[in-house]
Amino acid sequence: MDKFSQEKRRSIMGSIKSKNTTPELIVRRLLHKLGYRFRLHKKDLPGSPDIVLPKHKKVIFVNGCFWHGHENCKKSQLPETNREFWQDKISKNIKRDAENIAKLTELEWGVLIIWDCQTKKKDLENLEKILDNFIRSNNQSC
Ligand SMILES: [Zn+2]
Repeated sequence: MDKFSQEKRRSIMGSIKSKNTTPELIVRRLLHKLGYRFRLHKKDLPGSPDIVLPKHKKVIFVNGCFWHGHENCKKSQLPETNREFWQDKISKNIKRDAENIAKLTELEWGVLIIWDCQTKKKDLENLEKILDNFIRSNNQSC
């Protein structure tokens, strides 16, 4: 048996393909508040990053914990059924993510991954700091 309810499972797994998910909107709202200008889903960059800050040469991916295999995260636990299928699917996503990050880094873009679970209401103050520090930082140092 899946330890999550059906509804919960749907909400964990529901956001792979969809753009403009709530966590993404939360990140955008914070960037706005911080006064940064950004572009969305740039297809001409590896992995078409969710958020691109051309002026700072930074990109941000907002990743669903389940689909992108967030390590040590409760939301990324595999369902009990069809485990192998999910494991395989998610391993591929992790591999693809790593390749995209490597390509972007090579092109001298700074890359930040924000996970679903970092966008909870009570953590937003912290998230805002993470975003601000990342954008201000020198690409060499991160
Ligand atoms: Zn997570």
